[in-house]
Amino acid sequence: MPELAEVAYYARRWEPAVGERILRVHAHAQARVFRHASAAAVVHGLTGRALRRVETHGKQMCFRFSEGAWLGVHLGMTGELRAESADYAPQKHDHCVLFTKKRALVFNDSRMFGCLLMDLKERGEPAWWADLPPAILHPAFTVDWVGAALRRRARTPIKAALLDQALFPGIGNWMADEIAWQLALHPARLSGEIEAKALHRAIVKVTRGAMRWIAADWSDPPKSWLFQHRWKPGGHCPRCRAELSRDDLRGRTACWCPECQTL
Ligand SMILES: [Zn+2]
Repeated sequence: MPELAEVAYYARRWEPAVGERILRVHAHAQARVFRHASAAAVVHGLTGRALRRVETHGKQMCFRFSEGAWLGVHLGMTGELRAESADYAPQKHDHCVLFTKKRALVFNDSRMFGCLLMDLKERGEPAWWADLPPAILHPAFTVDWVGAALRRRARTPIKAALLDQALFPGIGNWMADEIAWQLALHPARLSGEIEAKALHRAIVKVTRGAMRWIAADWSDPPKSWLFQHRWKPGGHCPRCRAELSRDDLRGRTACWCPECQTL
């Protein structure tokens, strides 16, 4: 599932179209991605309007158009955005394609856990954008915020707390494992036992790295991170060389070093 940096990477693929007007919209009206905003609402809302701004916040994408049109995109499990040429012929899983004079902006999602949101709002912001918790690289994401989050989820394993989108928007499975590994914390350690200042520092560090490498050009974080070792069966801890452990923790596979991250 895409995490904040992957989401930012995909959103940027539509950025070249900023300033361009949507001439027509291709939509698979029956597709599940239109469960919140109907295909008709999206077609009506975007046709004739110009893309003004591309933003992301955690896993939420926001595309602002002229005349107060707002399009939200969630990638879910398998969603992705692409930009194609203006004569592009939409394929089976291209559930929504926005055509400008110069290009086709494609939302493709084979499993359709992703979705679209649509609002026409001249003033203010739609709730799905305005009501998000502080983004990790925003000044409002403070040590105090992290401390309050840890107290609220004191009896929850840190790995599960890190995946809570209401507390840490955009953190997903690999980032949560990376943060726990960098702090030498076992993923099942209780959140209430963890120091807010150190956790805040690690969250910001991993997020900055993810944005620098993955969001910029889909390159990998350095070999000194767990990231490069966690995907391989029999991968080894880059700190102590012990073989990495993997297990199910509340429905998600956690990866950790049994030597560095003891309970
Ligand atoms: Zn280790």
